[in-house]
Amino acid sequence: MIDPSRTVAELKELRELTGDENGAQRVAWTDTWAQAREWLRGKLDGLSLEYELDEAGNQWWTLPGASERAVLIGGHIDSVPNGGWLDGCLNVMAGVEVMRRLAEDGQPAVTVRLVDWADEEGARFGRSLFGSSAAGGSMDDQDELRQRRDADGVALPDALRAHGVELDRALEARSQLEGAAAYLELHIEQGPVLESLNLPLGVVLGTFGVERHQVTFRGQAAHAGSTPMDKRRDALAGAARLELEIREIAKRVGGGAVCTMGGVVTRPGIVTSVVETAECLLDQRHLDANQLAEMLSNAEAASRRFAQEEEIEVDWERIWNIEPILFDEGLVELADESIREVAGESHRLPSGPLHDAAEVARAGVPTVMVFVQSLRGLSHTKLEDTKDEHLELSVQALDRLADKTIARVAAA
Ligand SMILES: [Zn+2]
Repeated sequence: MIDPSRTVAELKELRELTGDENGAQRVAWTDTWAQAREWLRGKLDGLSLEYELDEAGNQWWTLPGASERAVLIGGHIDSVPNGGWLDGCLNVMAGVEVMRRLAEDGQPAVTVRLVDWADEEGARFGRSLFGSSAAGGSMDDQDELRQRRDADGVALPDALRAHGVELDRALEARSQLEGAAAYLELHIEQGPVLESLNLPLGVVLGTFGVERHQVTFRGQAAHAGSTPMDKRRDALAGAARLELEIREIAKRVGGGAVCTMGGVVTRPGIVTSVVETAECLLDQRHLDANQLAEMLSNAEAASRRFAQEEEIEVDWERIWNIEPILFDEGLVELADESIREVAGESHRLPSGPLHDAAEVARAGVPTVMVFVQSLRGLSHTKLEDTKDEHLELSVQALDRLADKTIARVAAA
C-alpha cells in the first residue's frame, strides 16, 4: 500500500533541510544539492533496489522485474535559487513512494526504475535538462559547455567534476535508456489552467514547439521637433503594430497558441528623436508543428506589411527553435484513466515549459506526464504551492499509472 501523506511529509522535510526563508536552494552542482541527493538516497536505503550514478550525474534506482524491459519514473531534485518546494522533487518523492510499494509487492512483471535527473533547471550555468539530454542523446553542445562559467567564474567542467561527473563522458549515460519501454513523470502544472477549471489533475499531451526570433525594424532617426508626423520613418511604429498583431495571430490560430514580445530595445532611445531601430524579441509556441509554422509566417507577413506602410525595413533572425514533442497516445489514455479513478475527472493540456520528459520522448521512449494543480499558477518562487490533498491525489494517480503501464508493457 502506498501512503501519500508520507510523500507530503517528506517534501516538507526536504524543504526544512534544503530551503531557507527565501525558498528552495537546491541548485544543481552545489553542496545543498548534494545534501538533498544524499537525503534522497537515505530514503531508498533498505529497499532491495540497485543504485547507480550514471556518467551525466543522474541517480538511478532499479527494481529488477521478470523482464528486462523497463518502466521509468523520473523527476529532478534540483531547484532554481529561491525556488518552490515542489518543482521537480514532487515527482521524485512520489516515485519513491511507488518504488516502496512495488518493492514490497515482490518482483514486478517488468523492471521498474526511478531516476533523479541531474540539473534540470540549468540555474547555475544556464544549461537546462543536462542529465536528461545526455541520457536522451540530444546533447551536442559540449564544446560550448566547456567554456561556460557561473557568476563566480567557476568553469562548468570543474563544477561537474566536484560531483563526480566528467563532461566528456556525459553522453555515455545514453546506455541508461536501453530497454526503456515507458517513461512517467508527475509534475506541478506551474500555470493556472487546472486551478481555473477547479480540477486537481490533468494529463499532458506534449510540450510546445517554440520559435524564437529577433525582429529588427529600421527607420530613420530624426528630430522630434522639426519632423512632421507624415515625414517620419519610425521603427518603433513597426514594433508596436507587430506587438498588437501577435495577439490576434495567437487568437486566430487558437489551440493554446501563445505569442510574446518579451523585449524591445530602441535606438537612439532619447526623448528628442524618432526611433531609428527597434529590436524586438519574439517568442511563439504551439503544440502543433503546422500551426506553429503558420503563426510564424503570419507574423512575418504582418511585419513586412507594417514595414511597407511605415516606410521602414524589417529583418528576421532566428534565435532558437524546437519542435513540439508529443507524448504517447496509449500512455495518455492510461494517465486519463488513472486520474479519473482517483479524482473523478481528468483534463488534457499542453505543457508550456520544457521538462526532462521531453528529452526522453525525443529519444523515442513512449512518455507521458501528469500535472497537479498549482495554486495561483505560480512556480520558480517560494510562493509556489499545491494543496496537500491534491499532492496526495497526485501520488495515487502516479501509483495507478505505474501499475497500468507495467501491465501494458508486460503484455506487449
Ligand atoms: Zn521541474
